[in-house]
Amino acid sequence: MPSDFAVRFWGVRGSIACSGPRTMRYGGNTSCVEVRCGERLLIFDGGTGLRYLGNGLKGPVDADLFLTHTHFDHVAGLPFFKPFFEPKNSWRLWAGHLAEGTTLRRVLGEFMMAPLFPVPPQVFRARMEYREFKSGETLRPGPGIEVRTATLNHPDGATGYRIEYAGRSLCYLTDTEHVPGAPDRNILELIAGADLVIYDSMYTDAEYGGYVGWGHSTWQEGVRLCRAASARRLAVFHHDPEHDDDMLDAVAGEVAKELPGSVVASDGLVIKLD
Ligand SMILES: [Zn+2]
Ligand SMILES: [Zn+2]
Repeated sequence: MPSDFAVRFWGVRGSIACSGPRTMRYGGNTSCVEVRCGERLLIFDGGTGLRYLGNGLKGPVDADLFLTHTHFDHVAGLPFFKPFFEPKNSWRLWAGHLAEGTTLRRVLGEFMMAPLFPVPPQVFRARMEYREFKSGETLRPGPGIEVRTATLNHPDGATGYRIEYAGRSLCYLTDTEHVPGAPDRNILELIAGADLVIYDSMYTDAEYGGYVGWGHSTWQEGVRLCRAASARRLAVFHHDPEHDDDMLDAVAGEVAKELPGSVVASDGLVIKLD
């Protein structure tokens, strides 16, 4: 089994896509992350970045797409993902945040519905499986791949993921709000000793006071969580659309000082876990 384990960012924004010269370097697409575990492809979230990922996927694909939740910024790319229209492909879509009795298929059907959208999910020609689970369960999408999950603190719910492969671990935690001074136990448990933690860093600690209850966190809380859980590196993620490249450069400088090896995620960034 090949031991390559890598993550590639296709969308790093929160809330809404933002194009233009002020956000050109870090990118303006909403949440979408590609994870490669050897030959297997796992995708986390279907924000606007998903469309670009899809344009480069060739040949029959059999893969899994995990949603943290179904807010617009995390599903907006799904109707525009070309590999869903290819009959030779097989996709499993996973969600762990939905209330009892709600299915992912139904939620997607309500999102892709006239007059909001011209065609329903039935236009997808690939073999599509919609799978619900309960945050907290462990999933096994392929040989040697373990995906642990945990409940995040977000309006309408959200699921955090930890992917274990070839003795290394990557965590994907967005969207989630912290309580200042009381580190989230679910998160500490999930990220314990992880090699890389991708974390909801929508705000700075200085900004956070103006957004209590909005369901997001700060890069400084990400650093505190990583330190408390002995996680190695942080990737600052889910940037506020108002945070321009210069501002994110400043965060990048600070976070690398606080936790060496940490970065601010940008569209196109690849991190190899070795
Ligand atoms: Zn979001
Ligand atoms: Zn959200």
